[in-house]
Amino acid sequence: MIQDPVSPLPPTDVLIVGAGPAGLYAAFYAALRGLSVRLLDARPEPGGQLAALYPDRVVYDVPAAPATTAGELVQRLVQQLAPFEIDMRLSEVARTLTPHTDGWLVGTAPAGHAAPGPDAALRSYPARAVIIAAGMGALLPRPAPHADDHTDWPAPLPGPAPRRAWVQGGVPQATRAALELAQLGTHVTLSHRRALFRGTPEQLARLNTLRAEGRIDVHAPAPADLAPDVDATWHLNGYLPDLTPLLAWPLDWQGEYVPADDAGRTRLPGVFVAGDLSLAGGDFKLIAQAFAQAALSANHAAHHVRPDLRVRPGHSSDRRL
Ligand SMILES: Cc1cc2nc3c(=O)[nH]c(=O)nc-3n(C[C@H](O)[C@H](O)[C@H](O)COP(=O)(O)OP(=O)(O)OC[C@H]3O[C@@H](n4cnc5c(N)ncnc54)[C@H](O)[C@@H]3O)c2cc1C
Repeated sequence: MIQDPVSPLPPTDVLIVGAGPAGLYAAFYAALRGLSVRLLDARPEPGGQLAALYPDRVVYDVPAAPATTAGELVQRLVQQLAPFEIDMRLSEVARTLTPHTDGWLVGTAPAGHAAPGPDAALRSYPARAVIIAAGMGALLPRPAPHADDHTDWPAPLPGPAPRRAWVQGGVPQATRAALELAQLGTHVTLSHRRALFRGTPEQLARLNTLRAEGRIDVHAPAPADLAPDVDATWHLNGYLPDLTPLLAWPLDWQGEYVPADDAGRTRLPGVFVAGDLSLAGGDFKLIAQAFAQAALSANHAAHHVRPDLRVRPGHSSDRRL
């Protein structure tokens, strides 16, 4: 049984599910149009696939950002939100969509619960319009073998930094966790089954330095029975996308895609879709396309919630933020 949702928070004009490039840019455009925006994501940080799957890789085909790492692209998208107050809710998975007075109510459960159990407190967020920018689904950490819980990075530390920590995995989050923990004074054991760690050249150089200084012990390839004596452990082994909660939403799904018109409108009034999830883009999954669809959805959502606002935004160069 799932608990009843706690009382809804004050409504926003728009609620965006997914803080990947489509969701972040939709948040920017909706805020630029003067709408109040809430943005939620299952992961503990924004960026979608760019932050989770390839923050260390160089992306070449984003306009006006030649040869930029995916991690830097995310930083710039977040920086573009700085003039606005966006209510960003992280580590929450959107699970339910129900009609609500003049819009919709989106119910969430904390990420980390594969299926919400009785202890999974639900939150509910009312909004006049919803933009679903959920990509391939909620990017949930691949659970470690024999571990009950999912661990992800960045992670809130419940108290002071642990004295000794074990970070297991070869993904960019593992390298980053090891470096950030070492920076806090933690002695880190970093292990991976293969002799390969991912990260930017700067991160990998820093890892080598800290290893030479004895502040990080590296085991790669790690013996199967490695069990360091530590105060805290992070298993970081990549992500599995989970679309299941959204598949229950009545959106006339075609496989893993949501049909939409050119404005990003789904069959539900006031519910829009943008980015990889939208069937409107065909099987053409590109950041540039996510941006274009996000701009269209956000501007049509603006007109939907405030019919006095025209769909067309005018030129941002006529404004001063
Ligand atoms: C390895 C790799 C390399 C790539 N390289 C390039 C490239 O060079 N150039 C290029 O243009 N494209 C590239 N892409 C594709 C590009 O990353 C995607 O097109 C883009 O990320 C789509 O953005 P999005 O915002 O639609 O979805 P996503 O980036 O997938 O973001 C969706 C977000 O929604 C969240 N979410 C989903 N469901 C829920 C839910 N129920 N509750 C809460 N949150 C939820 C997810 O956690 C995720 O953070 C690459 C993809 C991969 C995997």
